[in-house]
Amino acid sequence: MKKPATIAAHAGGAIDRQSAGVVPPIQTSTTFLRDADYGLIRPDNIYARDDSDTVRHAEHLLAQLEGAQDALLFPSGMAAIAALFRTLPNDASVVVQSGIYWGTTKWVRDFCERREITLTETDASDPAALQAACEAHKPALVFIETPSNPWLKTTDIAASAEIAHQVGAKLAVDATAATPVLMQPLALGADIVMHSATKGINGHSDVLAGVLATRAVDDPVWHAIKTDRHDAGAVIGAFEAWLLIRGIRTLPLRVERMSENALALVKHLRKHPQIADVYYPGLAEHPGHDVAHRQMSGGYGPLLSVLVQGGAPEALKVVGKLQLFMRATSLGGVESLVEHRHTIEPHTGIPENLIRVSVGIEDIGDLIADWDQALS
Ligand SMILES: *Cc1c(COP(=O)(O)O)cnc(C)c1O
Repeated sequence: MKKPATIAAHAGGAIDRQSAGVVPPIQTSTTFLRDADYGLIRPDNIYARDDSDTVRHAEHLLAQLEGAQDALLFPSGMAAIAALFRTLPNDASVVVQSGIYWGTTKWVRDFCERREITLTETDASDPAALQAACEAHKPALVFIETPSNPWLKTTDIAASAEIAHQVGAKLAVDATAATPVLMQPLALGADIVMHSATKGINGHSDVLAGVLATRAVDDPVWHAIKTDRHDAGAVIGAFEAWLLIRGIRTLPLRVERMSENALALVKHLRKHPQIADVYYPGLAEHPGHDVAHRQMSGGYGPLLSVLVQGGAPEALKVVGKLQLFMRATSLGGVESLVEHRHTIEPHTGIPENLIRVSVGIEDIGDLIADWDQALS
């Protein structure tokens, strides 16, 4: 088995047999020919709502990087999450980690209410809390996110899988902040791994995409997800899939640099008198560091949160003075971004002085200098 850097650089075997090009072509056709006897010329190509060589190529590449039996792309991370939750029958029970990506929490709450699904939100970074929730509610699905956005909590995937499986639940992991380069949830016992490929996987802030990958293709839940995508049509376009392939070629390199930069920035900021706290699983004093160290390798990713001294006005002042770190939501791109989360989601209990940071691949000296001038 080739290592991720090799798989990615070669885009999982990208050679285009027809042209001998070293990169894959983009096949944009929405429909495919039948022969004179009305047989399909390519039995797996009928109509582009699910049949696309370019999309399959990207999915195959992602499955290889993830150590998955199969992967499916969706037009956004939320579309991937929705496809997963839509497999639940009415009256089902689910346990979802609390304090995760707000878009997930909001959509799952609405969906579960509409479908009369019992939703239990629990701090799954505490295995005892997850166990209690699972034993009390006997969920069909447990959904966790690690490292979590924007609290940077670490949830033990192997322990969560054991707890979920004991009550007959599937474990799904949103591993967006880690990317498949730093963490492989399926190898740790998860059944399904999800990413917003909009973030680190694409890495250039120019494609919206989501991915689900499975440990077992013969799993009925996976079958239901596949059927749902085919029939309900939440598919990604060929050009977006091609851009993903293009982005993934440098994924290991980008993730390595982003993780190095993030750790260096965090080490600098935590000693700064204007900083009250820093959340980053790569720091030895982070409560989830030991678990993160065990289940991640090669770094801890681009995402961190910084608490400045003071409240919202002080945090906004710092954010306003930053020049290299652009004020914009999202994460995992080559360019560094900051976001004052409390302005975006004041009702979620997010601290007013919290600044969420996504560290890019710029020169670390420049990035540190930017924070120093903004905090001065
Ligand atoms: C962005 C994000 C999502 C949603 O993905 P979209 O591609 O924006 O739909 C889900 N989970 C996490 C952790 C994210 O950061």
